[in-house]
Amino acid sequence: MHKIRKGDRVQVVAGNDRGRIGRVLTVIPEKNRIIVENVNMITKHQRATQSLRQPGIVQREGTIHMSNVMPICPECDEPTRVGFTEVEGRKMRVCKQCGEIFE
Ligand SMILES: [Zn+2]
Repeated sequence: MHKIRKGDRVQVVAGNDRGRIGRVLTVIPEKNRIIVENVNMITKHQRATQSLRQPGIVQREGTIHMSNVMPICPECDEPTRVGFTEVEGRKMRVCKQCGEIFE
């Protein structure tokens, strides 16, 4: 089980986008990488094709390593370390700052 999940709000803690906050769009667990909205934007040059008549420059998010972000606790609203706890047999994440349990 990973500490970061799709839909989480996270803060970037390393790299060029340090300090930026966004929502996790995609998790690639086997690579420990994630895609966060508006973080690590890369520019792609798109050629005109049958389906795409407007060639040009497209910006989209590149992947970043999970260790470069910290999840933002919904309770303290700050980037925090996450631990795990078991609630009625289910493994849940817990904020190490305030103790709030979140899925
Ligand atoms: Zn918290």
